[in-house]
Amino acid sequence: MLSAARSTADSVTVLRTGPTGISEYDPLVLATDAGRTAFFPTPETSRVRDLVTAMEDGELPTDGAAAVVDHDAERTTLPVPTDGPLAVGKRRVLGPCGWLDPLDPTAYQFHSLDRDASAVADAGLVGRGRCDAAADEPVADAWRRARETDGDPVVVVNANDADDRQRADRTLLAGSPMSVLDGVAAVAEYLGTADAVIHVAETDTELRARLREAIDAAADELPVVPVVATGPDEYRAGEPTAALEAIEGADRIEPRLQPPTPAEYGLYGRPTVIHTPRTFARVRLALAGPEGTDRDAASTTRLLTVTGDVAAPATIEVGSDARLSKARNAVELEGSFKMACVGGVFGGLTRTLDITPTAAELTAAGLGTEGVVELLNDERCAVATAGERARFASEANSGRCVPGREGTVQLTELLRAVYQGSFDRGKIRELGRVMSRSSNCLLGAHAPRPVLTAMDEFESSFEAHTDGRCPSGTCSDKL
Ligand code: SF4
Repeated sequence: MLSAARSTADSVTVLRTGPTGISEYDPLVLATDAGRTAFFPTPETSRVRDLVTAMEDGELPTDGAAAVVDHDAERTTLPVPTDGPLAVGKRRVLGPCGWLDPLDPTAYQFHSLDRDASAVADAGLVGRGRCDAAADEPVADAWRRARETDGDPVVVVNANDADDRQRADRTLLAGSPMSVLDGVAAVAEYLGTADAVIHVAETDTELRARLREAIDAAADELPVVPVVATGPDEYRAGEPTAALEAIEGADRIEPRLQPPTPAEYGLYGRPTVIHTPRTFARVRLALAGPEGTDRDAASTTRLLTVTGDVAAPATIEVGSDARLSKARNAVELEGSFKMACVGGVFGGLTRTLDITPTAAELTAAGLGTEGVVELLNDERCAVATAGERARFASEANSGRCVPGREGTVQLTELLRAVYQGSFDRGKIRELGRVMSRSSNCLLGAHAPRPVLTAMDEFESSFEAHTDGRCPSGTCSDKL
């Protein structure tokens, strides 16, 4: 499609942008001229040629466009239609995605060059996502500790999340890598280092190649030129200290015991700040002005990937004071809504989305803070969903600690027993408590969450299974 557009173009500029986060629209073609942009989701190649030809003739094509938006001709963020999935939320961190050329550093204003990251640290920014060593915690603590620890500090971008429910990091790296690199440069400067590493899955060759192109393109503009390192495409390799082991090339990928934290003993023993692309892009936004910080829920945002039983997943950005229910407007649900799993594979099951996406409120509701809202329809069984995730935990854990290794197996067995007529609520809850408190890493600590929240919300469904009935009719082969 891109080559068709380029071969048709003579005087018209054809740019390859990155994803917007709305996969229903991919590939999205924008025709833009003098502050007016027409949106053409998933066009045929012949249509793309027609669009370019019309523009060559001096006309902005709008016939058949999903939306036409008038805007400031100089804008550096995607102009947003007034309805449809792109209209959901605020698109601040996501702003450049789908609009700027991801490989052109001149399209970005690099804030790391003229701003001090201490102000960001002081502004209460918290880390985003399970692959972040400061997940839901102020980044300032880790930054200061790394700066005060003896040794040669290093910055790590942990972008190896094998849970493909979470698509925000990938969207940012593909759609606005310069934003992430800008945030990395700011943190590196704060630490007084020029060393940075970006950790991606070894299977993600396309992202790796694009990332290397972006790093090469920005090399003359930014003081830090990260190297790209790969790790196995496995869930546990996303845990921040396991990611450090993966980058070091360890044979067995296991989360480390803490303390010491990565800030004190990180990559090859060096003081290390390790964040997700989401956090680094947020650092850039915070450098640009106060609205990127987390002090005030009304002025900050959270990235959410909306997935599950939907026609196409979407990554959106909503205000921290918005309700999660907004996420439903960004996708087309297949079937009737039954429940959501909020927080990734080990998120919590809930019937209501009347809750804000802040870490404090999600945690208080027993839900996860991964930035994933999985919408599940009425063909889903809560018991089966909880069981699948317990089994995944028993297979995906590293085996390093007893609560993680044995606890996940016991949890799976206790759920199997429900299908055989025995539902031991007390034992499941006690096991969940022990795993949450004493697992070495968040995989074991969060593994019981789908089961515990399913019991809270769908207790009668567990009882029905002990009687040989699945209310949603999906477990008949197991009963
Ligand atoms: S909880 Fe324990 S066994 Fe599970 S992944 Fe973490 S360290 Fe490994």
